Amino acid sequence: MTSSRFAHLLRPELASIDAYVPHQGSFEVRLDANESPAMLSIEAHALLANALAPAVLARYPDVRAVELREAIASRAGVTADEVIVGCGSDEVIAMLLSALDKPQGKNPRARIVTTTPTFVMYRLTAKVRGIETIEVPLDAAWDLDVAGMKRAIEFAQPNILFIATPNNPTGSVMSEARLRAVIEAAPEALVVLDEAYVDFASTNVAYLRREYPNVATLGTLSKVGFAALRVGWLIGPADLVHELNKVRQPYNLPLPSQRAAILVLRELRSEVDRLVTHVISERERLTRELDRIGFSVTPSQTNFVWVETKRPATEVFDGLSSNGILVRSFAKSGGRLAKRLRITVGTQTENDRLLETIARFA
Ligand SMILES: *Cc1c(COP(=O)(O)O)cnc(C)c1O
Repeated sequence: MTSSRFAHLLRPELASIDAYVPHQGSFEVRLDANESPAMLSIEAHALLANALAPAVLARYPDVRAVELREAIASRAGVTADEVIVGCGSDEVIAMLLSALDKPQGKNPRARIVTTTPTFVMYRLTAKVRGIETIEVPLDAAWDLDVAGMKRAIEFAQPNILFIATPNNPTGSVMSEARLRAVIEAAPEALVVLDEAYVDFASTNVAYLRREYPNVATLGTLSKVGFAALRVGWLIGPADLVHELNKVRQPYNLPLPSQRAAILVLRELRSEVDRLVTHVISERERLTRELDRIGFSVTPSQTNFVWVETKRPATEVFDGLSSNGILVRSFAKSGGRLAKRLRITVGTQTENDRLLETIARFA
């Protein structure tokens, strides 16, 4: 509810939403936000500290972020004109929804299609722009429901489809044949495949971007140990990137973030690899141990696990938080999410503590 004295001026959708605020309070162990544990070497820290403290602060950063886009492009085997960077992929999502918002067919407003459950920023960012979201439930194995997606595409005539693979919060990847079927059913729309967790997965979908002219992918440094930098990007057709640049704030990415991200992409690959190896091995241990204790866990291709509880998820969540451990509960979503928790993989010590504590609430 809004009781603002500006109510008569405000976009009506704002009355029904709240600002995004992560769980407040202080917790010794925070496994709620899919950040990866801090495990940079001392050498890498020194290099990053240097990158984060540019000699000149009086000038704006490179308006086109050329060097960073080249670093992203060369790693992906594309050219810099196929890359746009944002203050996190959240900002790239906002740029997409600002630029591609022309209502299709007889629609009074632009629409997007996505899955449920999935990353909430697609829906929230659409909503504050007056764009409608049609959410298609994933199937029982948390994979795409092709028939449902096709019906939604036909009915909604969406401007954009957002599909996260691997998906948040389910941790699973969408199967290739189903992705192809959905992409082929929406030739008029832009299909955005969000690869925020690709570093932890055994497959990626870059090949779909090369095969289909209406596919773009999203990437980010947030999940591989650099959430504080707020660096995300889109890789897609140059003519899309060209238009997105018109809605991008000119100096959207601060110079320290640009410099640090270039360093991460060009020179700290082995640090990222070490982190990813740690996270994957701890993820597999968490999966095995949680299963042994009596929780069922969906096989994960990400840096978190998607856990089903036997008792109400709120009881397990409260039990953990009263012991200083914060995870993410989906109890409020109800339905088949009512007994689900999403738990980020932490350090070995944090994961040990999680396992010890959660065993008491199995
Ligand atoms: C965490 C996450 C992002 C990342 O957003 P940033 O703004 O880059 O931090 C994007 N997509 C999904 C599916 C995520 O879970």
